[in-house]
Amino acid sequence: MSGPVLEVEALTKRFGKVTAVDAVSFAVGRGATAALLGANGAGKTTTLAMVLGLLLPSAGSVRIFGSDLAANRYALLPRMNFSSPYTDLPHRLTVRENLTVYARLYNLDGVRQRIERMAETLDLGDFLKRPTGKLSAGQRTRVALAKALLNDPELLLLDEPSASLDPNTADWVRGVIERYRAETSATILLASHNMAEVERLCDDVFVMYAGRIVESGTPKAMIERHGRSTLEEVFLEIVRGTSNLGEAAQ
Ligand code: ATP
Repeated sequence: MSGPVLEVEALTKRFGKVTAVDAVSFAVGRGATAALLGANGAGKTTTLAMVLGLLLPSAGSVRIFGSDLAANRYALLPRMNFSSPYTDLPHRLTVRENLTVYARLYNLDGVRQRIERMAETLDLGDFLKRPTGKLSAGQRTRVALAKALLNDPELLLLDEPSASLDPNTADWVRGVIERYRAETSATILLASHNMAEVERLCDDVFVMYAGRIVESGTPKAMIERHGRSTLEEVFLEIVRGTSNLGEAAQ
């Protein structure tokens, strides 16, 4: 297949009177990692949920590996996966049981070996036997990433992949994501509030404001365009130019 792995065209989601995502278009090429940035409520999670087929768009389309998601959902979903701090795994099941359920949902072979491999990759050995509900928030983030990598996805969607992680573990998890990408050439779309993470991992950035993409480019190009030295400074400039919170903070 040539062309982008992910193409989003005029994607829109309305919840009653709220337009959470407003005619958003972007593309992510094979093997690239892209980020959706934006203040709380900008529409990042809603966009990811539509790309995953979890939410039906009010308008617009999502093409994945060149096929329309709405028409080819069941052929496309096995080639994708996601992690999100907002999707809770059943609390009473142990981590191993949860990963086994997901492996079976994906109809994967070699379930035991896959889980062992994930446990090794994400250093889960100590808590495979523990009920998922008794893990700390940061431990659950690692389990969510293990679940996301279980089927070797070619398209990986990550909503705040380092949420609740201490700086050392966050750095280590970013290394896990980088290695996965290097080994598999997977395409990754992530939403993040951590600008250092985005600078390290991402080839392209799409900044959302009130459901629209207001700026895009490589982190380096955006930093240069704004005459700043970090993406964090660029983000603050864009957000403070558009929100009342920014005025209060200055
Ligand atoms: P955050 O950084 O806080 O995670 P976000 O950029 O991911 O924010 P979304 O969760 O996509 O933002 O929300 C975008 C807008 O859509 C917000 O105004 C939110 O209140 C609204 N919204 C999201 N889900 C629903 C829903 N199920 N019903 C009604 N409104 C919703």
